[in-house]
Amino acid sequence: MYDVDLFVIGGGSGGVRAARIAASHGAKVAIAESRTWGGTCVGRGCIPKKLFVYGAEVAAQIADARGYGWTIEASHDWLTLTVAVAREVTRLSGLYVGNLERHGVTIHNAHARFLDPHTLEVGEQRITAAHVLIATGGKPRSLPVAGADRAISSDGFFGLRARPAQPIVLGGGYIAVELAHAMAGLGSKVVVAHRGTKVLPGFDDDLRTHVEDGLRKAGIEVRGGVEATALEAAADPAWTTVRLTDGSAVTGDVVLAAIGRDPSTSSMGLDAAGVALGKRGAITVDETGRTSVPHIYAVGDVTGRVALTPVAIREGHAFADSVFGGKPTIVRHDLVPTAVFAHPPAATVGLTEAAARAAGHDVEIRSSDFKPLRHTISGRDERTLIKVVVDRTTRHVLGVHMVGADAPEIVQAAAIALTMGATIEQFRQTIAIHPTAAEELVLL
Ligand code: NDP
Repeated sequence: MYDVDLFVIGGGSGGVRAARIAASHGAKVAIAESRTWGGTCVGRGCIPKKLFVYGAEVAAQIADARGYGWTIEASHDWLTLTVAVAREVTRLSGLYVGNLERHGVTIHNAHARFLDPHTLEVGEQRITAAHVLIATGGKPRSLPVAGADRAISSDGFFGLRARPAQPIVLGGGYIAVELAHAMAGLGSKVVVAHRGTKVLPGFDDDLRTHVEDGLRKAGIEVRGGVEATALEAAADPAWTTVRLTDGSAVTGDVVLAAIGRDPSTSSMGLDAAGVALGKRGAITVDETGRTSVPHIYAVGDVTGRVALTPVAIREGHAFADSVFGGKPTIVRHDLVPTAVFAHPPAATVGLTEAAARAAGHDVEIRSSDFKPLRHTISGRDERTLIKVVVDRTTRHVLGVHMVGADAPEIVQAAAIALTMGATIEQFRQTIAIHPTAAEELVLL
């Protein structure tokens, strides 16, 4: 009756996983992507960002090497890195296409939009589908001020052909912190202007303080409690002056707006399909990912829940298993580990101290703030923070928050213990690996 069993709009992390798994369950599947296969994560997010972070970390390693007796002359070529990153993005994106093809999914390099709840216009074609999955992700939020077009977003960042000399980063979230560090490591003189009391709203307070200290130690000027009111041409018209709410101004050659991302739902004909939108234009879904139209589902950033690749992948997989695999699966959103690739990086899983108290737990805090062994000799002024939030009565570990080398790797492993419902005593029964930073988790 329909051309396909499933049509997926959006070839990012969530959409590709859903298409592949649905096809493996025997469904006839087609998918459309009008930009980069692999989506934001592969094309202009996680992957190119992490490669830039690796590039920037080399500067720290060279600086630290002096204390260990090395003399290293170094210089950096931004364009070489940009080209190498772009090449890797192209390679990875191609792997996504190959993977879909191997699973028998029909690929459309085209924009798709609804004509009615079961019919899509895909480029020049009309395709009918029994089920539709919307996995169109998100897009950078525009600055709501005059002169906003003088700023770039994270999308534009990866296309910069030369190192910004004095970039101004607006915002205090993941992207602002990560790209500020990346640029500072690669030699830019960076200013971060954000409107909060500290960077990284929503994270544990101690982690936020530690990350903000890390920004300053990296030579980044951090201005909190301010918002941009206007962007104007500076004396050199290629440069931009950003006027701030405290009456001050700051001038730079690149302005990077990193003030959040919004769901990508425009020009998709959602009205024609009858799909309801909620806050900030996110598609409203129930816990199974079903929209207001029973045969249309949505996963990932477009749903405005947790905007992280591994969550989108899990949601896409659960959708395919539930609808085409006869295995109803619900994705939990309460224990999602996450990391901010600052220098040193931060990572977290579970409840912050404030959230645990607000939820009524009798909270016990175990924390350690120490100089890592590496930096006793490197001369670097860097400290590691490990903080564990415990329920004093049940002894369950409610949250683990860390800032320090390898924090994302360490917290990923701690997240297994939290998912299993571990108690602080079970952490402490575990024998340490010495000397490591992670051993603090079992010694606290
Ligand atoms: P975030 O949501 O992390 O942070 C947005 C920041 O911008 C906050 O400091 C927010 O402050 C501020 N802000 C919002 N609106 C305005 C405004 N009008 N003027 C000034 N400041 C404003 O957004 P990002 O863009 O950094 O990242 C988007 C999402 O992408 C993240 O939330 C995350 O889910 C995902 N991501 C994940 C990464 C990772 O896993 N490592 C890396 C990058 C992105 P306030 O709190 O006051 O609103």
